[in-house]
Amino acid sequence: MRVVIAGGGIGGLSLALSLHAAGIDGVEVFEAAPAIEELGVGINVLPHAVRELSELGLADDLSAQGLATGEFVMFNKHGQRIWGEPRGLAAGYRWPQYSIHRGRLLGVLHRAFAERLGETRLRTGHRVVNVTQNDRSVCAHVAGGTRVEGDVLVGADGVHSSVRAQLHPGEGAPLWNGITMWRAVAQGVPCLTGSSMVIIGYFGKRAVVYPITRPDRDGRALINIVLEATTGAGRPMPRQDWDHVVDPAQIRAVFATMRFDWIDIGELIDAAPRWWQYPMVDRDPLPRWGSGRVTLLGDAAHSMYPVGANGASQAVIDARVLARALALAPTAQSALDDYETARRPATAAVVLANRGVGAEQCMELAEARAPGGFDRIDDVFAPGELQELSSRYKRTAGFDPALLNDRASLSVDS
Ligand SMILES: Cc1cc2nc3c(=O)[nH]c(=O)nc-3n(C[C@H](O)[C@H](O)[C@H](O)COP(=O)(O)OP(=O)(O)OC[C@H]3O[C@@H](n4cnc5c(N)ncnc54)[C@H](O)[C@@H]3O)c2cc1C
Repeated sequence: MRVVIAGGGIGGLSLALSLHAAGIDGVEVFEAAPAIEELGVGINVLPHAVRELSELGLADDLSAQGLATGEFVMFNKHGQRIWGEPRGLAAGYRWPQYSIHRGRLLGVLHRAFAERLGETRLRTGHRVVNVTQNDRSVCAHVAGGTRVEGDVLVGADGVHSSVRAQLHPGEGAPLWNGITMWRAVAQGVPCLTGSSMVIIGYFGKRAVVYPITRPDRDGRALINIVLEATTGAGRPMPRQDWDHVVDPAQIRAVFATMRFDWIDIGELIDAAPRWWQYPMVDRDPLPRWGSGRVTLLGDAAHSMYPVGANGASQAVIDARVLARALALAPTAQSALDDYETARRPATAAVVLANRGVGAEQCMELAEARAPGGFDRIDDVFAPGELQELSSRYKRTAGFDPALLNDRASLSVDS
């Protein structure tokens, strides 16, 4: 079987590796960027995706490149702790959770791709602009005139997917919720346990902070910072490219007062060499992803708000489910049907949960119920309510510890 993949990001490369592991070697990846560069800031890879990457034989490299996330803690705007929970192995999962530089994760996938499939199967500087198909095959048309035929084509070409635009004409630009995100990495001393992922504030004025490397001899690590504020009223959507660098003065004006005895956001703003700006966007879930021999994967299929740290993880799981379906189903089309049946409703539920602030809903409730702060968290939440909010999101996004630990492997040979 020949599988053509548009997009060599986390989703596309995970799919190529998953297909290879499932015994499908006729894989070609077309990537628009001139090279696979280790760009971006930090992301979290959740245990359900770490399981899949581990079953692809990447556990050691992942562990070397990332930092195992020890806990996830949410605070109100006054710096008062609302809810904290262990993550990864400490939470009883059989797999860790990693805080990692997006570029380093891409590097893990790219190295494995080059070793296993060979660099020539990845054609950088090749933007897929059109897809045609008939009963027997599908053809990717690349800018500049290259054409390549396959049995299946997968649009793993991100939030601005041209494959999706062709399959769903008239959908238009991603949807902005009026929140602007400023993202950076800075050297600094990690707060709390040293492997804590913390969120402070409420949806509309929040800070997300976590280290993505182990500390050096001085106790300093690379720290990922995402600051979010509602800026939408009366303004056009900010530019939507990952390279939009901005002057931090505007960010300092909003966030410098976010300072407590355990973290100083103003200090982190000054420590970061560069700040990137990006609007918080998603897309409405689709009634179908693909048609015939074409489907979508990752952000192209289900772009979601970066709430609950699920974007990259869901792309990895898509890849594993699709590779298994293509290896086991009797025809390519029935494999794509099986894949969509398994993944489309599951990921639509995460998109919608993230619109309701998913994993971090307790911060919204704390802000609504106790905007001036609280003496005791038990005065704000009913017994068991915080635990239930946390468990509900994990079930929706597929990383409930018991369900994940017990479910069968997606590897074809298991
Ligand atoms: C440069 C960059 C930086 C990012 N930084 C962060 C970050 O810091 N934190 C975070 O949480 N998320 C970040 N993301 C998004 C995050 O990586 C994705 O949400 C997630 O990993 C899903 O992966 P994906 O492969 O579906 O999409 P993406 O990671 O967006 O990958 C899509 C790939 O397709 C390529 N492409 C686009 N159009 C075409 C085309 N027509 N033909 C061929 N190739 C095409 C793109 O160049 C890209 O490499 C970033 C994405 C990019 C591209």
